[in-house]
Amino acid sequence: MPFMRRKKNLDPRWITAKFNSQCKECRQTVQKNFPAFWYPLTKTIFCEQCGSREYKTYVAITHDETMVSNSL
Ligand SMILES: [Zn+2]
Repeated sequence: MPFMRRKKNLDPRWITAKFNSQCKECRQTVQKNFPAFWYPLTKTIFCEQCGSREYKTYVAITHDETMVSNSL
């Protein structure tokens, strides 16, 4: 069952846009071949600028979770 391995691929990550899309945050066009921040879970895309902010937020949340589980 190969699909079972794909569980962890729901983490948001930086991608190169494969086609023009629209940033969820500022509604600017994310042009093809430009960096974009992608949330597979919600199929949300952010431009490079908004993506940097989202990424920092995500890292901060993940970091908190790590801290909590370490203290248990
Ligand atoms: Zn944006």
